[in-house]
Amino acid sequence: ESLVQSGADDLERAAEAALRPRRLEEFVGQRVVRDQLSLVLDAARNRGKAPDHVLLSGPPGLGKTTLAMIIAAEMGAPLRVTSGPAIQHAGDLAAVLSSLEEGEVLFLDEIHRLARPAEELLYMAMEDFRVDVIVGKGAGASAIPLTLPPFTVVGATTRAGLLPAPLRDRFGFTAHLDFYAADELERVLVRSAGLLGVPLDPAAAAELASRSRGTPRIANRLLRRVRDWAEVRGDGTLSLVAARSALDVYEVDGLGLDRLDRAVLTALCTRFGGGPVGLTTLAVAVGEEPETVETVAEPFLVREGLVGRTPRGRVALPAAWTHLGLEVPHPSGT
Ligand code: ADP
Repeated sequence: ESLVQSGADDLERAAEAALRPRRLEEFVGQRVVRDQLSLVLDAARNRGKAPDHVLLSGPPGLGKTTLAMIIAAEMGAPLRVTSGPAIQHAGDLAAVLSSLEEGEVLFLDEIHRLARPAEELLYMAMEDFRVDVIVGKGAGASAIPLTLPPFTVVGATTRAGLLPAPLRDRFGFTAHLDFYAADELERVLVRSAGLLGVPLDPAAAAELASRSRGTPRIANRLLRRVRDWAEVRGDGTLSLVAARSALDVYEVDGLGLDRLDRAVLTALCTRFGGGPVGLTTLAVAVGEEPETVETVAEPFLVREGLVGRTPRGRVALPAAWTHLGLEVPHPSGT
């Protein structure tokens, strides 16, 4: 299990929920997105209307779910949570839509994985606040148009590019979340340590921040693992030694890369001679879904200058070889 993925068990999920910022002003970093969103929400509040539909994109663990919850909280509105993969049929979505309350925030995680018929139903509902409910089956089935109260869809996707344009166009506000800077992650960690009531040394906070892959979810998970280490093997303080020891136990390397990241890099450098190699081939080599490699591992590797994307596939950049402790090969033919 990669540290970034959300397929964690219930305990992890509960621990994560406890550390979620509830208000926009508690949300660390992403200043531009925060400013823009606060304007959208203030304007909606002044008009006494539900805010425009919001689309949030970005790699996992950067705060999309948290922002959806914050939008509902800031509007004093109820929140409904579902996801693309959870909606099998258009009828499932129609049932959700037709039960929404006025002003409700509907969070649709992994919206790019909605099936096509559900997606089409969603356009209409977002645009006209209307949904056709199908009653009966086969030749006797009929569509009953139903008017919906105003509501706000908050869609989340790991890649906005995966959304069909007609769906993307239904969102009045679109924001892309980027990886966090180390000083922002330090603030996330200090806040979380405060909430958990554990003493976190500044040096440990800095070490964890620099090795959290730019991702608040990972920073919080590592913090809990350091707390484990400190309680079991240390003296309870989250010191630099405790931080480094826990990072070793969980095989987080100097750049913060986890096992999946390193598997991708290693396959790219050693099995495919540095590439270019197609995404699917690379994914098979590391035993993962192409989408996981593309949306979970790759964005950070690209950002760190380890991997490049070319029209012919993924390539290892010189820093990748160096990071793995391998000799950078000479360009072929020399
Ligand atoms: P996503 O939906 O993008 O995968 P989440 O919203 O679930 O990410 O965030 C994962 C965890 O990281 C949450 O527990 C939340 O507490 C924390 N987190 C994310 N963004 C921030 C932030 N800007 N400030 C503080 N904590 C954050």
